[in-house]
Amino acid sequence: MTRIIVITSGKGGVGKTTVTANLGMALAKIGSQVALVDADFGLRNLDLLLGLENRIVYTAVEVLARECRLEQALVKDKRQPNLVLLPASQNRTKDAVSPEQMKLLVNALAQRYKYVLIDSPAGIENGFKNATAPAKEALIVTTPEIAAVRDADRVVGLLEAQGIKRIHLIVNRIRPAMVRVDDMMSVEDVQELLAIPLIGIIPDDERVIVSTNRGEPLVLSSENSSLATVAFENIARRLEGETVEFLDLDSPNDNIFSRLRRLLWTKIL
Ligand code: ADP
Ligand code: MG
Repeated sequence: MTRIIVITSGKGGVGKTTVTANLGMALAKIGSQVALVDADFGLRNLDLLLGLENRIVYTAVEVLARECRLEQALVKDKRQPNLVLLPASQNRTKDAVSPEQMKLLVNALAQRYKYVLIDSPAGIENGFKNATAPAKEALIVTTPEIAAVRDADRVVGLLEAQGIKRIHLIVNRIRPAMVRVDDMMSVEDVQELLAIPLIGIIPDDERVIVSTNRGEPLVLSSENSSLATVAFENIARRLEGETVEFLDLDSPNDNIFSRLRRLLWTKIL
């Protein structure tokens, strides 16, 4: 059974594209065939995050216009052979694609890939319907800010109205030190407001930004594994049905000293 999952949010800039790229890589790494679909027409940047922008020849729009075959538009990742990207067009208008057409494209991909992850624009945008139409499940990304959470709540309603029942929550950019002193909502606060099951907690980590700028998703590099990397990998494992404990972000930073301390600690115990 192919999993067709839209990654969406109420507010823009909360980390949808980052999650799509890293989660896709994490799923591919543990052996699934993954297709990433950029459904953020007009504001495409999934290709940039993946570092695949120079390899795009055709996009979804050309496939739909029958100017090329689907196969020709898929960009294969040389670093991770289990992953392909279906790029969005940048220079045609957002209305170039309809929800029915998106369904056609995604269903064709679903024949061959175990996961189809759709990177969506935020819930208030035009392209939102296109991105959600083919999806059977949704991951809602929010940051722990009131505005983002309130908008996420609205999107839960929209998704439910579309018949998407399997909806999970990802809380991105958590800063434990701020949560501790009550300067930031906690994951529990967010979850209580939204009342949808949690599938991931991702710390705020500047390495995420660095990796974005380099076009190398964090999950791709196996050296210097950060908590954010582990967080993405854990979401992949939970999607696969594994029970994985949530990260304890309250533990000190994952620097070499704390790792050593944890190591010693387990030995003592
Ligand atoms: P969206 O697709 O929802 O608009 P993006 O994935 O493009 O959001 O992310 C918006 C910005 O936030 C990017 O600059 C990205 O690097 C940054 N970002 C996302 N997640 C994190 C994180 N966990 N830690 C630090 N920066 C992040
Ligand atoms: Mg985006």
